[in-house]
Amino acid sequence: MNIVLFGSPGAGKGTQSALLVERLSMIQISTGDLFRAAIKNKTELGIEAQKFMDKGELVPDGIVIGMVDEVLAKLGKKFFILDGFPRTVAQAQALGKILAQRDMEIGKAVFLEVPKEELLDRLTGRRVCKSCGAVYHVRTKPPKSLGVCDFCGSEVIQRNDDKEDVIATRLKAYEENTFPLRAFYKSEKKYVEVDGNQEAEVVFSAVKNYLK
Ligand code: AMP
Repeated sequence: MNIVLFGSPGAGKGTQSALLVERLSMIQISTGDLFRAAIKNKTELGIEAQKFMDKGELVPDGIVIGMVDEVLAKLGKKFFILDGFPRTVAQAQALGKILAQRDMEIGKAVFLEVPKEELLDRLTGRRVCKSCGAVYHVRTKPPKSLGVCDFCGSEVIQRNDDKEDVIATRLKAYEENTFPLRAFYKSEKKYVEVDGNQEAEVVFSAVKNYLK
């Protein structure tokens, strides 16, 4: 089934998506990753999105929805995970319409719940590989050699929007815009909740159980 994976920044959406891709051959559609790739390639979309991302604000609905629409149009038959989209109720409504037009649907919207203290630790300690996107944490999962990616040898850096002042804005955007999605998916009878404050493997088992 196709799923939406949602929760606060730092809740583990990227980690769980990677496991779902690796073990269940699903396709990950991460709007954050798509924007970061667009920024790297200096496309018009990237230049526009960066203005919002650098401040920790949400990219306007119209831009995000258009981008996801294009990606979904090119999808084959594999099941997909929407990681970081929708982030507003307007995006969720638009997604429903886009999918219905293509005879597709979301089976479950999986909410990853993590306490704020833990989120702050994960976000401020997060480091990523500039090139392949591998994710590290300064304390819990440092690269073997300081500042160097274990997988591709590129530089490991802190994302601009993982700096402390920007994190506050991102968490506020989450609370105001994304948290209300819970009620939306409850009303659609698609909502399920997973305790995201556990080892990644334990979280993965719980997520997987909902996909049956
Ligand atoms: P993420 O990697 O999912 O944490 O996303 C990084 C940033 O990309 C967010 O802080 C937003 O600025 C932007 N972004 C990603 N997905 C969305 C979305 N669905 N709606 C609006 N902005 C988004």
